[in-house]
This record gives sequence, structure tokens and C-alpha cells, in this order.
Amino acid sequence: MKNLQEYNMEKNLIRNELKVEVYTVGFEPMGESIVVKIKMDKITMFCFVIDYYETEDEKPILQLIKDEQIDLICITHPDLDHCLGLEKVLQLATKDTIILYPDKMIEKKYDSSDQNIIKIVEKISEFLTLYRNSSKKPQLEKCIDRKNIMENKNTSFVDIKRGGEYHLEVKTYSPVTEIIDRGIGKINLGKNPKIIENNEFSIMLSITLGKLKLLFCSDIEDDTIVEVNKKIDKSENGFFAKVIDYVKIPHHGSEGSKEMFTIFSNVRKLSNSVTTIYRSKKLPRESIIDKYKEKNGKVYCTSKLEKNKNIEKYGIVKHTFDIINETVETEELGNATEI
Ligand SMILES: [Zn+2]
Repeated sequence: MKNLQEYNMEKNLIRNELKVEVYTVGFEPMGESIVVKIKMDKITMFCFVIDYYETEDEKPILQLIKDEQIDLICITHPDLDHCLGLEKVLQLATKDTIILYPDKMIEKKYDSSDQNIIKIVEKISEFLTLYRNSSKKPQLEKCIDRKNIMENKNTSFVDIKRGGEYHLEVKTYSPVTEIIDRGIGKINLGKNPKIIENNEFSIMLSITLGKLKLLFCSDIEDDTIVEVNKKIDKSENGFFAKVIDYVKIPHHGSEGSKEMFTIFSNVRKLSNSVTTIYRSKKLPRESIIDKYKEKNGKVYCTSKLEKNKNIEKYGIVKHTFDIINETVETEELGNATEI
């Protein structure tokens, strides 16, 4: 039996409030990043960064994380619109930071004809190699079919005033071994079967805290989604049933990700869905956005769908989830809007 003091040391004790802030940041004409902060009594207990993007004079993510210890950096996949400037976040890693990246992304199976992407992958690879040999030693997690990645952290919150305990869990669903081992990607199919299209590396992950369920889909596309769908828990008490509070819509709302609705077949409500834009690919598609609207919640975009000349360089959709009172507040900043 543990004594009370030991018990308290292992739990985070809530005095007044426990809130989760999700900042979905989207740039013009492309680029996305997400910051998640878990705050107990207004103090950040966990800070996660999923992807990174910046322009020469706009670096909103650095502003959001400048005073935080970063617990998790997730590099979802090696595409410019998710990685540009990412080394600035990697530099902030400490020995307590988990860096999550798709296995094989920086190994031989990866190839690309895009020099910009090659440069980024090289930079990331350099950092990861450097960290492996440094005293800083962040925890490097090659992500492939992995489960709860927070198992070694202090992830329980206890409400001492009103009673109640809330557990934090971060789980990954992709990339999937089958897809990576098959070594095919739509773009390269038939040319070189060892080369995998970038989006197939995409890390999809969920964060749960008590009843709150958040899903980050990166640029996951249908080949992978079909495999993920075979493995997920759609039972009444599983993640993929009833209500999901937040979904980052995969691949900027493209038609290539419509298999997501097989994953959501037991989900009655997607309370808040958020997409970023990719102007040159004309994303998001309204037909896909309509399917999210059919799930009885609100849909947001970090940009106006119609481009106009007064457009700003980025938009942020900020969701603040109150865990104890089970409420949510939404703020749309810059170009962001409900659609
Ligand atoms: Zn993308």
C-alpha cells in the first residue's frame, strides 16, 4: 500500500480547473501546425506540438510555445506544409521531450524528387542523430503501429474538491506496418515499388483526457485509412464511437481521405472539425466538408474558403475544453472562420 504522500506525488491535484487548449494554425496559401496545452489551474502541465510551419515574418507557433517546456513534438510526415522551419522546435527539446516521427521516414525507404523535402528530411535526420549522442537525450520514438506513448509520464489528474480522476493518453494509429512494408504509394506505383508516397507516412494520433477525445489525422489518405479501420476500437466505450470532441480533418479536406467516414461509422457526433487550406490543390473540397457537417457538429477552417485580396497570412482556430464542466469555447483568429 502506498501512503497518501506517495499517492499525491504520483498524481496531479486539481484545485480549480483543468482545461485543454487546442490551437489549429493554418497559413496562406498552405502550411499547418497544431499546439495542444493541458492546463491545470492555469499552469501548463503538458505542451504538445504537432507539425510546424512558418513564413519569413510570421512565426505564431514560436509565440505560442515560447514559455513552455515541450513534452511532445510529433513530426507527422515529411512534407513542406508540415515541416518548414521545424528545426526551431527540435532545438527546444529537452531530455523530457518525446520526439515522435514516422519510422523509415529518415531511412533508406524514403525518397523524393523534391529537393526542398530532401533538405528538410536531412535536417530532421541530423537533429535526431545529434540527439541520440547528446546529454540532452530527448526520447525518440519511431512511430509505427504504436500504442500509448505517455506510459512513463505522470498522466493522472485528481479533482480533490469535487472528486473525479482524469487520465491522459496519447495513442498512435498510423503509419501502418502493412502499408510501409508493401512499399507502394499512389504516385510512385509501378515506377519503383520501394518508394512510398509522403502522405502514407502520416502519423494519426489521438489524445484523450477523461471523456475528452481529440483526433489528429495529419495527411492520412485512403490506402492507410482502410488499414487503420481494420484495427480500431469502434465499441461503445472505444475511442471511435459516440462523440469525438475535435478532429483535425485529414489531408486538408481532400477526396483522397473520404474513407474516414468508415472510421466514423459508429460516431454520432463530431463536435468540432477543423481543416486548413491548400490553395494550389483547391483544398478543402466542399463535398467533403459537407460530410463532416452531417456529423452534427461545427466545422472550421483556418482560412476563408474564397480567396480575397485582404487575406492575412495565417488563421488560428482555438478551442478551449473545460474538462470538469464538459464545456468548450471557440475563438477564430485572423482568417479563421466557421464554414
Ligand atoms: Zn499537408
